[in-house]
Amino acid sequence: MEDSEALGFEHMGLDPRLLQAVTDMGWSRPTLIQEKAIPLALEGKDLLARARTGSGKTAAYAIPMLQLLLHRKATGPVVEQAVRSIVLVPTKELARQAQSMIQQLATYCARDVRVANVSAAEDSASQRAVLMEKPDVVVGTPSRILSHLQQDSLKLRDSLELLVVDEADLLFSFGFEEELKSLLCHLPRIYQAFLMSATFNEDVQALKELVLHNPVTLKLQESQLPGPDQLQQFQVVCETEEDKFLLLYALLKLSLIRGKSLLFVNTLERSYRLRLFLEQFSIPTCVLNGELPLRSRFATANILVEIS
Ligand code: AMP
Repeated sequence: MEDSEALGFEHMGLDPRLLQAVTDMGWSRPTLIQEKAIPLALEGKDLLARARTGSGKTAAYAIPMLQLLLHRKATGPVVEQAVRSIVLVPTKELARQAQSMIQQLATYCARDVRVANVSAAEDSASQRAVLMEKPDVVVGTPSRILSHLQQDSLKLRDSLELLVVDEADLLFSFGFEEELKSLLCHLPRIYQAFLMSATFNEDVQALKELVLHNPVTLKLQESQLPGPDQLQQFQVVCETEEDKFLLLYALLKLSLIRGKSLLFVNTLERSYRLRLFLEQFSIPTCVLNGELPLRSRFATANILVEIS
C-alpha cells in the first residue's frame, strides 16, 4: 500500500496477543482488504467483500473474528463456552488453510480461542468428540456443518454470533446451494456475517440476499495484482516437444517469465520430463499432480504458497 495515511494494525484497537501474532508472521502493514474490512467488521457491520486468494482475505475476516471473541471473553459477564463463529468454505483444502491461518493468528490466545475443522467426511466420530467441547470457531464445508447440525452434534441457534462464507462464488458452483439453505434454518435470527468472494456473480447476489443484512460492500482496486482484463495472452506454435522446452528455457533465462511460475502440461509423463529438463539448467522445479500422495501434494502446494 502506497498510502501513508493507511491504518496500521496497531491503530485498529486489536488485542496485543493478535498484534504479536501478526508481527511474528512478518506482516508490517495490513493489505488493502484488511485495512478496509477489519475496522468495519469490528463496528459490527455485515460485509460483502470482493477479495481474491492472495489479497490477505483470510486474515481480513479472521482478525476481527478473533478480536470479537477475545473482547467478549475479556469484558461482559462470564459466558458459557459455545460455538460462536462458523467459517464455510467450498473444499477440504480451503478449510485446512483457513483453520491453519486462524490458528496462527490465535497462537498467543490458544487457551481462550479454540478452532475446529470439521471438513473431512471420514472423521465424523472424532469431530463429534471435538464439537462436544464447543470450540469457539468451527470451519467446514456446508455439507459437513449441516450434517453435524442434523445429528445435533452442533447447535448454533442460541450461540452463533458470526458467520463467514469464504470463496462464496464457488459455493453454489460446487453444488452446495441446497445444503446452504438448509443450514441457514439452523442459525439464530440475528448474527453478523461476512461474505468473501473473488467475483460478484449471480450466485453471490443470491447468497447476499440470504445471508447478509444491510451489508457494506467492499470492491477494492488492487493495483498490485493484475485482473483478468489486464492479463496478456500469447500463443506460440511449436513443432516438437523439444522446441517447446527450449522456448520455455529461453523465456525463463531471458527473464521474460519472472518470479515463481505455474506451468501446465497435458500429461503426467510430460510433467516429469519437463522437470528433468529444467533441472539440467539448475532451475528448481517441483511437480504437482493427482497421482502424488495427498501429503506430497500439500507439501508442494505449501512451497508454492511460500515462494509465490
Ligand atoms: P489469503 O488471501 O488469505 O489467501 O492470503 C494470502 C497470503 O498473504 C497468505 O500467505 C498470508 O500469509 C499473506 N498475508 C496476509 N496478510 C498479510 C499482510 N498483512 N502482510 C503480508 N502478508 C500477508
